[in-house]
Amino acid sequence: MSQQPPPTGQARYAWREIERRDPPKRAAEDRVSDFHEIYSLFDEATIREQASRCVQCASPACVEGCPLNNRIPEWLALAAEGHFLEAAELSRATSNMPEICPRVCPQEKLCEGACVIHSPEEPICIGAIEKFINEYALARGAVPIHQVSPNGKTVAIVGAGPGGLACADELSKLGYTVTVFESQLLPGGLLMYGIPAFKLEKTVVQRRVNILKRQGVQFKAGLTVGRDVNLDTLLKEFDAVFLGIGALKPKLLDVPGAGLKGVYQGLPFLAQKNAPIGLDLPPVAVKGKRVIVLGGGDTAMDCLRTAIRCGAVETLCVYRRDLANMPGSRKEYYNALEEGARFMFLTNPLAIEGNTSGEVTAVRCARMELGEPDASGRRRPRVVPGSEVTLPADLILVAYGFDPVPFPPESDLSRIAVNEWGATKTDANSMTNVAGVFAGGDVVRGPSLVVHAVRDGRRAAAGIHRYLTEMQPARASAQP
Ligand code: SF4
Ligand code: SF4
Repeated sequence: MSQQPPPTGQARYAWREIERRDPPKRAAEDRVSDFHEIYSLFDEATIREQASRCVQCASPACVEGCPLNNRIPEWLALAAEGHFLEAAELSRATSNMPEICPRVCPQEKLCEGACVIHSPEEPICIGAIEKFINEYALARGAVPIHQVSPNGKTVAIVGAGPGGLACADELSKLGYTVTVFESQLLPGGLLMYGIPAFKLEKTVVQRRVNILKRQGVQFKAGLTVGRDVNLDTLLKEFDAVFLGIGALKPKLLDVPGAGLKGVYQGLPFLAQKNAPIGLDLPPVAVKGKRVIVLGGGDTAMDCLRTAIRCGAVETLCVYRRDLANMPGSRKEYYNALEEGARFMFLTNPLAIEGNTSGEVTAVRCARMELGEPDASGRRRPRVVPGSEVTLPADLILVAYGFDPVPFPPESDLSRIAVNEWGATKTDANSMTNVAGVFAGGDVVRGPSLVVHAVRDGRRAAAGIHRYLTEMQPARASAQP
């Protein structure tokens, strides 16, 4: 790390005098005509001003609220003084994709939600500042490529999503020779195929992958572990294996009519409309159609906004709880509203109705009310008797979330232990029941945030390093 300039004390820490500002956002009528990102960067003066609102808490709640425990007040102080490159350097110390996480994190639930400055004042705009300092450094070529002498050990990473990329980054910086296996043709996982480009441009993902390539990480795309190459082969060729294969088995719509023509899963729809290459998926045409999206998470918001950009004439989100209990990011909810999506809360489908050709014509729903909290702490919805409504629709997108994809029973991956929900079990070192095989991200925790996958990838890399430098040599020397 370079020598950082000492704080000058000139940053004003002026949260009372300076109002929070959000980064420039394209007007809704402009942005719905393309898939480009909707937010741009603050100018330098505004970044310094906004960063100077931070009061530099002695026990910063924002750091606790960030899953990566980013050193937020420290890089805010540097940004407030105009030391953007040093601020970026500090932010890279705890994050493997500090230009990507701020684009996709629900900050209001994480760092900014934890910031001590809140109602009636607004928190420091931590995400926008993190994005700025890292884009500033990248634009100036000031992100060093770590080229470390090889330590003679090799690791296979299975899955090139955020967890796999973070694990690969950490290990290659420690001198491991890392090969990433990816079943799709382009690395990035959900960053490339799931999250729409209007939130995360695909060139941003490609730029991060290119940094890893220049660092020496090798990618083998279009290869599925468990089908094209088995686990035992990887264990023979590599000293350790990390599984970061996500949780992409969609939860199904289980009502009469779910099999009608015009009912689709949300994720393949998003992949088809957002991936920078053609995909071998059945085309889903929404142009001129009334689209109903079922669900209330981020995938539902992404489906609504993608359908609008693809020419749907109506987009309606049907969700069984209320706004306060909706899991999706508030920022993306308001963005969807601005772009023309409508929401029907406390509503749950009972059946999909169709015509004689078997095509969707409507969704029959019940209105709901909220009862006692369930195990997740959210209030459990229950049907209001006699409250049925029928909502006309031409196309349904189901966004009910995901489960881990079961390991194929015929593959040797199936000897990896999973829990009752199909999630891979790991120990405190991120290792599965198979020695030398580690796992992290959604395949372990179930569907979660990009920033959680990055954290898991970092933890697994530390676990792999411990295993290969301390545990495995000790085990080998103990053998007769
Ligand atoms: Fe906030 Fe996410 Fe950045 Fe952490 S990684 S500081 S939670 S935007
Ligand atoms: Fe600054 Fe808010 Fe973090 Fe305190 S909690 S250090 S005010 S960003």
